[in-house]
Amino acid sequence: MPMSYHLSAPSAVSNLLAFSSRAMEEFVRSFGWPPYRARQILRWLYQNRIRDIQSMTDLSKQERTILSSCADIRRIERVSVLVSDDGTKKFLFRLQDDRLLESVLIPDEGRLTLCVSTQIGCTLDCGFCLTGTMGLHRNLKAHEIVDQVLTVQDHLGTHETLTNLVFMGMGEPLANFEAVSDAISRLTNRTWGAGFSSRRITVSTAGLASRLKDAASLGVNLAISLNATTDEQRNRLMPTANRICSLRELIAACRDYPLPVRRRLTFEYVLLAGVNDSREDAKRLAALVRGIRCKVNLIPFNEFPGSEFRRPSEEAILIFQSVLKRAGLEVFVRKSKGRDVLGACGQLGRSAAALQGLALTPVQPRC
Ligand code: SAH
Repeated sequence: MPMSYHLSAPSAVSNLLAFSSRAMEEFVRSFGWPPYRARQILRWLYQNRIRDIQSMTDLSKQERTILSSCADIRRIERVSVLVSDDGTKKFLFRLQDDRLLESVLIPDEGRLTLCVSTQIGCTLDCGFCLTGTMGLHRNLKAHEIVDQVLTVQDHLGTHETLTNLVFMGMGEPLANFEAVSDAISRLTNRTWGAGFSSRRITVSTAGLASRLKDAASLGVNLAISLNATTDEQRNRLMPTANRICSLRELIAACRDYPLPVRRRLTFEYVLLAGVNDSREDAKRLAALVRGIRCKVNLIPFNEFPGSEFRRPSEEAILIFQSVLKRAGLEVFVRKSKGRDVLGACGQLGRSAAALQGLALTPVQPRC
């Protein structure tokens, strides 16, 4: 065993969860152990979700002692779970540096979907999103993303199984690409990882065109938050996102996106009363996405204290949907679950920010 690991001070003890699979291989090699030890350890972490090195019963006692002398397993801490009237649960987690983040568990028609966060706050400043008003506090690390899944799995009853993962919580996933990519590989690897099917994972982006090709390499479903049908509208609603990439560039990147067979893109569109919910908007939206293999998810605006926008009436929502349907699009209206606990799309961040005494004032976003 190398001295550097053995003699490290307690503060330098490594968190095994912080290692990528490659880093884990190097770590076990440094002890002179065979490479399969790395897979064994990873399986304990992601498949058995253990919290203690002594539980790694396929390692010898001596190996466990060696490992414990220089490493431990530090999971995020579940601070609270708010349960909505509709069964949605909002989890509040505390990270090692005491920062707080939120994830949302959504039961719906036989599915159990976890909405995970990728940043504390967000790189972007979309005007209709509460998280956007926080500014970016920091990127999450890969293991902090994965740990939201592990800790929620620990919370589930014996007959409950997570069926879907959506990267639609706090943050812009493509602005934290390396960590998101590493997290997805840990979540999908069937040999040593959590074994989720990549078909049941969706990454949602406000649309950073230059990074869509990278996104394709993740092998999961991609959702693009369009939310507007003209640059003028989008500049107003999503100023930073649209400055990075205009609507035209974004749609061009979507047309070039290397979609695998039998997959399609999802376009998300937040419906804001009197802002982007007219028949003309619906017609422009249909024209924009024409020819792209896709479906459209309409998300009626979820209100939060202080927001300037309003949710359209049911009638306006149905008219908007019918215009898209008539244009031949497959279009769904997303149920807004968990609104009473501020757990619906665009409502995350308030409890975390309040508990941390963070001001909910915009800071200059960085990309
Ligand atoms: N940054 C990523 C993922 C987080 S937002 C993205 O933009 O896609 C996830 C989804 O929630 C996006 O489609 C976004 O447009 C939508 N959203 C944000 N705030 C909302 C709100 N207040 N009401 C309804 N949907 C909202």
